Amino acid sequence: MRNFLLFVENRDRFAVGLFRQFKIEETPSRVLIITPTLEQKRWVLEYIRARLYDYGKEILVKSQEEGKRQEEELTKDGLLSSFSFDNFVVGKSNQLAYKVCLEVSKNPGVYSPLFIYGGVGLGKTHLLHAVGNRSKSLGYKAIYRQALEFSEEMIKSLKNGKIEDFRKTYSNVDILLLDDVQFLSSKERTQIELFRVFEVLQSKEKQIVFVSDRHPKDIRDVSERLLSRFASGLILEIGLDAETKLSIIRHKLLLFGLPTDKRYIDYVMENTGYSVREIEGFIKTLKFTGIREEDSTKTACKEEDLVRHVAKYFSLRPEDLKRETKERKVLKARQTAMYLCRTLLHMSYSEIARLFGKPDHTSALYSIKKVEEKKQQDRKFAYMLEMLEKSVKKHLGLN
Ligand code: ADP
Ligand code: MG
Repeated sequence: MRNFLLFVENRDRFAVGLFRQFKIEETPSRVLIITPTLEQKRWVLEYIRARLYDYGKEILVKSQEEGKRQEEELTKDGLLSSFSFDNFVVGKSNQLAYKVCLEVSKNPGVYSPLFIYGGVGLGKTHLLHAVGNRSKSLGYKAIYRQALEFSEEMIKSLKNGKIEDFRKTYSNVDILLLDDVQFLSSKERTQIELFRVFEVLQSKEKQIVFVSDRHPKDIRDVSERLLSRFASGLILEIGLDAETKLSIIRHKLLLFGLPTDKRYIDYVMENTGYSVREIEGFIKTLKFTGIREEDSTKTACKEEDLVRHVAKYFSLRPEDLKRETKERKVLKARQTAMYLCRTLLHMSYSEIARLFGKPDHTSALYSIKKVEEKKQQDRKFAYMLEMLEKSVKKHLGLN
């Protein structure tokens, strides 16, 4: 099982001290962080969660202070009013999803089921709430649930002999918004109940919107018949292209009262990946730290050390990793080294690109993304990476 504190420590050894002050409960699928105050909860959500978006588990944060207030915030329909169409920045890579969602909120049932998928932090959850809020304001009955919440509710109802009430609740809405349905994997009973609800809502020409981090065909351990329902309507991908990223950065800089000149925009552009959540987190941090001038001399030696170590691991010479080539082994070694520069040395994408003689930050971004994907998909590779990471850390005296 992964260890949350260890993960935080690898990312940011300063933050781990703060996290140690909170109560942390970790299960194989999620992490619950309980902070004493609401202020700390916000800090965790905004600052740190932005950096840990790829932890691979759901991270929930609660504060002891709020208790009741949170219940109010999360009314029974599960909708959060802060996510609306008005504060959603539209660009090339999300405009189709945006348009269809807007249409669906006005005319529930038009494109049902609608299935939206895409990577983390791209605004999927934001859009779901926006649909719910808008349709609610037009008099429709909408309900938003995380797939895991749906599952927990189902189990509770089953235990309390209230499964009929559960079915009724979900079958009597105009719009059902179900988030992160990839988490329904292996939850057989939940899949059965969802299938029932689905059939009822479809027969009444109501609207269902599913969101997932992947295409239905890539969802594992979900029954064939449910998967075929997921894929039976409109399937849209949501992404983030450079141009949209730029508008979002401008929008968020303004929102946080920061300058929107080229220096700021470039700085955010180069230091963040393709995740709006990461961009938001970065800008919020920027508000406190300001632009840091690069102190390259201190890490320069570590960078070279890292490259040397990774090259040796792949039985290559350090200069091999910096030369132009299509040789697979070299490419793999270089991508891995770039990834480790990011995760272990926290270098910016442009610094990494420069180190490997690449013209601009996009090549580093691409390589690192590749490694992240491979790590998710290929267990052997993930293991190799973990071992290498440990050995580099030891070698460079990081911890
Ligand atoms: P996902 O569900 O795809 O992982 P979220 O919807 O939770 O991502 O989005 C992460 C954060 O980024 C949220 O705070 C959300 O408001 C913000 N965000 C995402 N996309 C946009 C956008 N196009 N315009 C404005 N904010 C966005
Ligand atoms: Mg989400």
